Amino acid sequence: MSGSSGKTTWDELHGQERALAMLRHALSADRVAHAYLFAGPTGVGKARAALVLAQALNCLEPGGPCGLCAACDRIARDLHPDVLRVEPTGAARQITKESIDVVRQRLTLPPHEGRARVIIIDEAERLNPTSANQILKTLEEPPPRTVFVLVSAAPEQLLPTIRSRCQRVRFAPLPASVVARVLRERHAVAAARSEELAALAGGSLGRALASLDEEAMAARRAVARRLRAAARGTGAAEVLDAAAELKQEHEKETLADALDLLTLYWRDGALLASGAEVTRLVHAVDDDEGLAVDAARGGARCVAAARATAEAASALRAFAAVDLTLEQLVFQLRAA
Ligand SMILES: [Zn+2]
Repeated sequence: MSGSSGKTTWDELHGQERALAMLRHALSADRVAHAYLFAGPTGVGKARAALVLAQALNCLEPGGPCGLCAACDRIARDLHPDVLRVEPTGAARQITKESIDVVRQRLTLPPHEGRARVIIIDEAERLNPTSANQILKTLEEPPPRTVFVLVSAAPEQLLPTIRSRCQRVRFAPLPASVVARVLRERHAVAAARSEELAALAGGSLGRALASLDEEAMAARRAVARRLRAAARGTGAAEVLDAAAELKQEHEKETLADALDLLTLYWRDGALLASGAEVTRLVHAVDDDEGLAVDAARGGARCVAAARATAEAASALRAFAAVDLTLEQLVFQLRAA
């Protein structure tokens, strides 16, 4: 859930005032530790805070992190040569010796351009025994101008010897009111729904956003299915009803996103019709049977359907009338 591009500053972190106050104090007193352990539940802003700390240490503006200068921008986009992020890889989701070798190699050189190098180890409890020992060795002889940030939702699984060399910064579960506010203000979720999602998320913004994603995806799939069902019918009333219902039940944005999904479905159909391997398909709508039937009607029809659907999506985003656009689309799909 990190990784949204562009600026990131202390202000973007919500509900972690204690942790942030501790870090800001260390920065202003010029007493930043060699190694931190950011401990706390998933989805409460630990990894983001690590990035902001890296920005604070490397920002080119006085009193940063500004979130806007070249250094802040490159850190936010994971392109800064002095900020290295390590995370688990492979099916076993381990932080391997190879990943840590890259870090240790980098440490033999002084920081490239920044004032401080920052090594962020995400899900640090996933260090395997070999890589954990390597990190321990490094922490025992901390290289100059280098700050390690170990990020973990299960800090008790780290070697005690590693833990004892890190200054712990505790990240608390977020208050439901904070999760709800972020959902409303940053993700345009309706008030009542934001309260409900926040209550279910147990203090994790990450979890709330993940369920929001799933929910949005389910809504798009349902819209796409409804339109295809109407396109398979023959009567005009069916088309008008479907368009009226969809307009009633969904935001315009959801409908446009659903049309993007439906465009992918038709693309899948065209691929299937031309004999593509099933593994090449996007499976946008999760309806293998329907897809096989549509593909059997021929690639050209699928391509025409994809074009009509993509045009309808653009029309909705260009503020065309919702019901008219959907009606027209269904008739076009029938004719395709
Ligand atoms: Zn900056």
